[in-house]
Amino acid sequence: MNAAEHFAWAKGRALEYVEAGDGASALGSLLSDLGKHEGTAGILLDPALRMLFAGELMLGSVEGARRFIEGLLMPVDASCARCSKAAAGTCCSSHGKKLCHLCYRRTHFVEVCVEGCRECAAEGLPVLLSAVAR
Ligand SMILES: [Zn+2]
Ligand SMILES: [Zn+2]
Ligand SMILES: [Zn+2]
Repeated sequence: MNAAEHFAWAKGRALEYVEAGDGASALGSLLSDLGKHEGTAGILLDPALRMLFAGELMLGSVEGARRFIEGLLMPVDASCARCSKAAAGTCCSSHGKKLCHLCYRRTHFVEVCVEGCRECAAEGLPVLLSAVAR
């Protein structure tokens, strides 16, 4: 089972407890199930999620548990494969690599990007790659 499948499975199991009206067990089940797969074990370690999780657990409401579980998304690995910047997306269908826009342009020889490119704007890149200080 890959991480995404495991994630869906864990979520489904937790929602069964929600349907049974047991919010605390739903959250407990989610926590323990996500911990069983290395690809999902880190999800609830996110500080913001952990606080939210603890809050819902304390309130113990079924609706709160449902909101939390249904709202939980499988995080995609969001960092660039070549540097530590956030990835702008998957580069192309032949590599399927997550790259930031600068690394994408460097590795795909996009010397001149389109005027008004949103990704260039987001990373502060000039239209001409040669203008980037190396
Ligand atoms: Zn990069
Ligand atoms: Zn590519
Ligand atoms: Zn661009």
